[in-house]
Amino acid sequence: MICQVCGVEAPTRKVTFHQNIGALVMRFHQSMDGQLCKRCIHKTFWRMTAINLVVGWWGVISFIVTPFFTINNVVYYALSARLPPPAKDAKAPELDARALERLGGVADRLVDRLNRGEPFEVVVPQIAQLAGVTPGQVVLFVRGLLAASKEEPAS
Ligand SMILES: [Zn+2]
Repeated sequence: MICQVCGVEAPTRKVTFHQNIGALVMRFHQSMDGQLCKRCIHKTFWRMTAINLVVGWWGVISFIVTPFFTINNVVYYALSARLPPPAKDAKAPELDARALERLGGVADRLVDRLNRGEPFEVVVPQIAQLAGVTPGQVVLFVRGLLAASKEEPAS
């Protein structure tokens, strides 16, 4: 709902990409794990996979692990092939006064359903529709609630 790389509100998919740089006796591993939009999936996949192919396999362990990383990347990339790209005017969601007011009216229901363990990706679009806001605004609202609950002193 919100891309964890570029922050725009767009269809996202959970992906995990790995990058390995083999340096004979050492290796440098990086991974990217999160909900990404199609644009960022495309960019991250090609950057990390190109590094794997060029400098990924220089080293004993690297030689063994890099093919698995590369296969993993290709699988995640293929799985997100049908993900729609972000809208042309996609931007980062904002919680304005109007959205806050509308979300305030459904906050009880939202918290209730999440506390009952209903999946986030199911609850959020429904609450968004109910309140007349975007799913990204609901995500921001939930983040705000979580941050506020952490700030309260434990009793
Ligand atoms: Zn993105």
